[in-house]
Amino acid sequence: MNQPLMTRSLSLPDESATEQFGRLLARVSADLKDQPGQPGLSLPGPQAGGRIHLQGDLGAGKTHLVRALLQECGVTGRIKSPSYALLESYKVLNLYLYHLDFYRFSDPQEWVDAGFKEILVNDALVLIEWPERAGKLLSDPDLLIQMQYVGNARKATLHAYTNKGVKWLDALTNLGKRFHLALTP
Ligand code: ADP
Ligand code: MG
Repeated sequence: MNQPLMTRSLSLPDESATEQFGRLLARVSADLKDQPGQPGLSLPGPQAGGRIHLQGDLGAGKTHLVRALLQECGVTGRIKSPSYALLESYKVLNLYLYHLDFYRFSDPQEWVDAGFKEILVNDALVLIEWPERAGKLLSDPDLLIQMQYVGNARKATLHAYTNKGVKWLDALTNLGKRFHLALTP
């Protein structure tokens, strides 16, 4: 991995903080726009898309965070963890959302067979748990989120590897100030 362009951290005292973080991350990565005349509904905008990697021990909150993000993007119904299927896909308006989990990934051929390479070139928002298990198959993401246990609470460290990732982190920092979620250097 290259050096990140920007790093921020964020303390998440309880699971509702993780959900709030997921919703704010959705706003920036899916470029969510409020829908006139439909209060409470926001849908993906023209700048939506990119790739987010999520690292952290089992139970650290990766899937919990992604669920909140997908729901905020307008995904309805049950959101399954992709830990068995490797991949769950969703579509909201023109935006494809791919949620992957490489915990059980072993053979790179699985990757090729499942056509995952196409996913990465698609104009989509791609969320990947356990990216380190895919070895060198994955390039640096726009944003890497590392979730850590702090007692019963959690801490997230966010690393931006692209200009888009830096833009997201700046926007998140600003949004966080309004929603009691402090991103610190
Ligand atoms: P992972 O995908 O990282 O293996 P999950 O998201 O499946 O983990 O599970 C995380 C668990 O931790 C869930 O039970 C969730 O309610 C809880 N959790 C999430 N965020 C927090 C937090 N900030 N503080 C305490 N518990 C949390
Ligand atoms: Mg998970």
